[in-house]
Amino acid sequence: MSPGPDGDGQAWDEPVRQAAGLPREMPTVRKVTARPAVLLVDDHPTNLLTLEGVLEPLQVRSVKVTSGEQALRSLLKEDFAVIILDARMPGMDGFETARLIRQRARHRDTPIILISAFHQDESSIIRGYVEGAVDYLTKPFDPEVLRAKVGLFVELFEKDRQLKEKAVRLREEQAEMLAREHAALLEAAVQRARLHSVFTQAPVAIALLQGPTHVYVYANPLYLQIVRQHDILERPAREAHPEFDGQRVFELLDHVFRSGEPVAGKAIPVELDTNGKRETAFFDFVYQPLLTREGSTEGILVCASEVTGQMRARLKAEELSASLQRQHEALQKSEERFRSLTHAVSQIVWSTDADGRVSTDSPSWRAFTGQAMERYHDGRYGWLECIHPDDRARTVRQWVEALRHQKVFEVEHRVRRHDGKYRHMSARGVPVVMEDGQVREWVGLHIDISEQRRSEESASFLARASALLSTSLDYEATLANVALLVVPTLADWCAVDLLTVGGSLERVAVAHREPEKVVQVHELLRHFDLDWNATRGLPKVLRTGESEWLPSVPESFFDAGARDEHQTRLLHELGLSSYVCVPLLSRGRILGALTLVYAEEARVYDERDVRLAEDLARRAAISVDNARLFREAKEAVQVRDEFLSIASHELKTPLTPLRLKLHSMRRSARSSEGAMDAETLRAHLDVAERQVARLSRLIDSLLDVSRIGAGKLELDWEDVDLAEVVREVVGRFEPQASKAGCAVTVRAPGPVIGRWDRLRLEQVVTNLLSNALKYGAGKPVELSVSTEAGHALLLVCDQGIGIESGNLSRIFERFERAVSERHYGGLGLGLYITRTIVQALGGTIEARSTPGEGSTFIVTLPGVSAEHSLQTPVS
Ligand code: ADP
Repeated sequence: MSPGPDGDGQAWDEPVRQAAGLPREMPTVRKVTARPAVLLVDDHPTNLLTLEGVLEPLQVRSVKVTSGEQALRSLLKEDFAVIILDARMPGMDGFETARLIRQRARHRDTPIILISAFHQDESSIIRGYVEGAVDYLTKPFDPEVLRAKVGLFVELFEKDRQLKEKAVRLREEQAEMLAREHAALLEAAVQRARLHSVFTQAPVAIALLQGPTHVYVYANPLYLQIVRQHDILERPAREAHPEFDGQRVFELLDHVFRSGEPVAGKAIPVELDTNGKRETAFFDFVYQPLLTREGSTEGILVCASEVTGQMRARLKAEELSASLQRQHEALQKSEERFRSLTHAVSQIVWSTDADGRVSTDSPSWRAFTGQAMERYHDGRYGWLECIHPDDRARTVRQWVEALRHQKVFEVEHRVRRHDGKYRHMSARGVPVVMEDGQVREWVGLHIDISEQRRSEESASFLARASALLSTSLDYEATLANVALLVVPTLADWCAVDLLTVGGSLERVAVAHREPEKVVQVHELLRHFDLDWNATRGLPKVLRTGESEWLPSVPESFFDAGARDEHQTRLLHELGLSSYVCVPLLSRGRILGALTLVYAEEARVYDERDVRLAEDLARRAAISVDNARLFREAKEAVQVRDEFLSIASHELKTPLTPLRLKLHSMRRSARSSEGAMDAETLRAHLDVAERQVARLSRLIDSLLDVSRIGAGKLELDWEDVDLAEVVREVVGRFEPQASKAGCAVTVRAPGPVIGRWDRLRLEQVVTNLLSNALKYGAGKPVELSVSTEAGHALLLVCDQGIGIESGNLSRIFERFERAVSERHYGGLGLGLYITRTIVQALGGTIEARSTPGEGSTFIVTLPGVSAEHSLQTPVS
């Protein structure tokens, strides 16, 4: 095998060579480059030498043989330029030898010179020429002539040889050229074959269109397949595909051909003719212009792949997904319906065979429990799986009993619903008895009585709570009991908080399912910062009076609620998964709140729990309110009793001297010894009047208090000079002052006029002055009147017993006193009435005092007339 045309040593396969129409491997030509040889044939060696000598100048190689046979043998080995043959030789003579040489095609043209030793006759010479000799020489011959002749033949031989060599070379070159041409052809053929095979096997449809009319010159099988056509080669596209008319296919091809620019498309729909049927197929395609060296378009390479399958799959997938979506929605709806239906299922109908084995499907059982049919319909007691473990033994007992005695089966047990929650159900099964008395089957009914149960439980719980709440008026203890009642029925842990009179919060009860954790609850709650403005939790409930309910407490609640890690840890330890905080409301007032907590995730407060908690809180609030009212009423009764004893004492006190004086006056009137003298009578009457005045003051005070209580304190507004009122009252009190031993001074630099009620102002000054005299310990008393910042200022100052600082505000309350009844008489109403009047006039009153050193009562009143308001205040 010769190397391949690409010169890389690769050999062409013979089949390929054949396929390409190439000839078999070409033979190579061997070159001959030796000196020309002359064959000398003579039976006389001397003649041979002579001949050799004659020819030497020709520089030929002389091959000397002595017989015709040897000559023939030599000719087999090589070619000679000339043969010089002795005509006369023993055996085979020169003529014979010449004849035999001529018989060989190869030596037919080799010149033969016959030499004869003597002159031959004419016939011999003719014979010599007949046998093929070119010359016939007789001895003695002229060596020159011989040499010249031989030289001529050698030259001819040489030329011939050269010609032959040239011819060989030419042939070789030709062969080489031929080989190259063949190789090139082969290469092209192979490339074509390869391209063809690539195109043919390509997974895309390929076609070559030529010229402006887009004549098909090539189309691979896939192309033929996707265009649903087989007879398109050599035909213009428009003719091959009449069905593409109006589908922009040809317009695009024209455009590509004209512009020389490629065009590509993706998932382009094309209407195709398939066995006479129109159908839409989708293609990805490229129209690639094929350009000549000069750049003009000579054709178009069309590559296309059909994506109808994918498109259909995609459309189908989209359709499928849409339909799935629809189905899903429908399913969801039906599931929702089913769910609501199963929620609504509260009755289950079932039946068993005579032996008590479930024999038929019970859709209501399936719907309620979610149990698969084969689970409960297993010929055994698969349905028991749905009965609460604690109720199973009892249920089986009852059922076996009923079966055995063919009597009604009745049981209440908990059945696990499809959502995993147990529902209280009342089950009842009756045997269906045939005429022969045999039980044919059992039919039964389950009724969900959870709600009923729950209502009963709630009612009983509330009843217990109410009973507890009504046992005692010690509401702190009662609330603690309520907290204990709540845990664990309604909470894992709980707390009751009450608002105090001062507005602060008091935690009155805490309970935990595990009593040792109560401490932790206290600790947790103690450290909580109570932000009254918080938007959730206890503060919000206490502020708004509305319940707060978190069915499941998010983790963020812990972080937001806890102040530090310690609290977060406590919260985690105690657990807080569901929570309700309800207000304690009574008579429209928020008294506190009840906080209930479920620690375990399994327990969740639902709306009914919230209502129950609210109900409980309402009852607890009423109980607290009642207890508080009772406590207040008790205190009020106590105060009233005290007041009555003081009041009766106070009212009695002036009566005794009055009665004494009246009695002595009557006695004197009846006396025969003569009537009482005028002076004594006046003195008696003075005493009597003073006591009457005192009595009427006491009664006025009581009347005032009742008026104030009824909100009927009426004011008579007029311009009043406070300084003048003070002076007048002090004047009226002179006798009492002197009796008490107190020097009373008034400091009033000028009139202090304002719009007030004169009589009520007199009452204020009277009360303050009488107290100053009463508790002034006989020391000087000073009253001063001035103005300050548009207000009138009245100071009543004594140097008496003074008042403990703890009593300074209390003494203004009704019946409140800071001295003992034994030492000082009084009803504890004066300051109460005084403050009420001052406040009614828009002013204020306060007391300052150092016990043992005296007290000062300061009254400020607004409404001072402008002309007096600029006066210099009294220091
Ligand atoms: P009463 O004087 O009848 O007890 P008040 O309402 O006038 O009732 O006074 C209430 C209480 O205030 C008195 O009981 C007394 O303890 C205290 N008090 C009032 N004025 C003075 C005062 N000037 N000095 C000391 N204590 C006073």
